[in-house]
Amino acid sequence: MSGIAAAGAAVKADAYGIGAERVVRVLAAAGCSDFFVAHWSEVPALLPHIPAARIAVLHGPVNRDEAQFARSTGARPVLNSLTQVQRWSESGGGPCHVMIDTGMSRLGIEWSQVADPAIAALDIDICLSHLASADEDSPQNADQLHRFEQVRRKVSARRYSLANSAGIALGSAYHGDLTRPGIALYGGVVRPEFAGVIVPVARPEAAVVQVRNLEPGDKVGYNALFCASKSMRVGILSIGYADGYLRCWTGTGQFLWQGRRVPVLGRVSMDLTIVDLTDLPDCGEGDWLAADYDLPAAAAQSGLSQYELLTIMGQRFSRQTGS
Ligand SMILES: *Cc1c(COP(=O)(O)O)cnc(C)c1O
Repeated sequence: MSGIAAAGAAVKADAYGIGAERVVRVLAAAGCSDFFVAHWSEVPALLPHIPAARIAVLHGPVNRDEAQFARSTGARPVLNSLTQVQRWSESGGGPCHVMIDTGMSRLGIEWSQVADPAIAALDIDICLSHLASADEDSPQNADQLHRFEQVRRKVSARRYSLANSAGIALGSAYHGDLTRPGIALYGGVVRPEFAGVIVPVARPEAAVVQVRNLEPGDKVGYNALFCASKSMRVGILSIGYADGYLRCWTGTGQFLWQGRRVPVLGRVSMDLTIVDLTDLPDCGEGDWLAADYDLPAAAAQSGLSQYELLTIMGQRFSRQTGS
């Protein structure tokens, strides 16, 4: 959907919780060659898998140590202010990227400052900006595009990049030379254009660690939010809010087992979640259930964003290629 533009990949935050090392290997094999992380601390794990010069660090060098780290590893800083421009030049400089703020008031050099001679002196690979409202049909999109076109005329760079996932759906005018999808690579559907095109790529699964039988009147979980009104069979799953399966799924979440729906009973706790196995007598200890994590639906139901649903996934999952 990026047309003739290349597609890079935002792999920050452990590739949105999916597992950055696996993701960069898969995407590099698929032909992706530009990768974006937020922190310098995210760089070392990626170095064995992709060339350092293809790792862009969005937060830029906020002190001399970080500028030095960039020079010694070869990872490319995204310079976000004239102070960072100066720091990079003083550290010895070299190829870099530059972020221009075209109207989000977040990271980036103000678009009115782009004629500064310190910018002209840089060796800029990618000149980028970031869209604030691409997931909506907002006039802000055209405003930012218009400003970015003016920036392009003033900042000399090898490549220009504006669109995140949602921006890709806004059309070729937004694509520049390089798009920077994140959420869409991980199954997020952030615009109607992606419905039916983007499919889920990851789902959390948890094992049944205990099965128990309940009598009418038996209480379930913290604060007894569920009470059995009949004889029931329940499974205790090894997943909880410490794994990113948040308490908002208390009494409302669903798991799936062999295509059957398995409702959550009562409160989600830190490490455990109780589900109703009454209608699934063959499901037992050691069986794996998948959380029903259709991202757009799960976001609508939970009030969380699709981004949060992925990035909150905890460190206790073994991240495996699915069956
Ligand atoms: C996170 C990020 C992206 C990716 O955004 P998605 O909405 O996940 O596609 C692209 N560019 C920048 C600067 C980002 O911070």
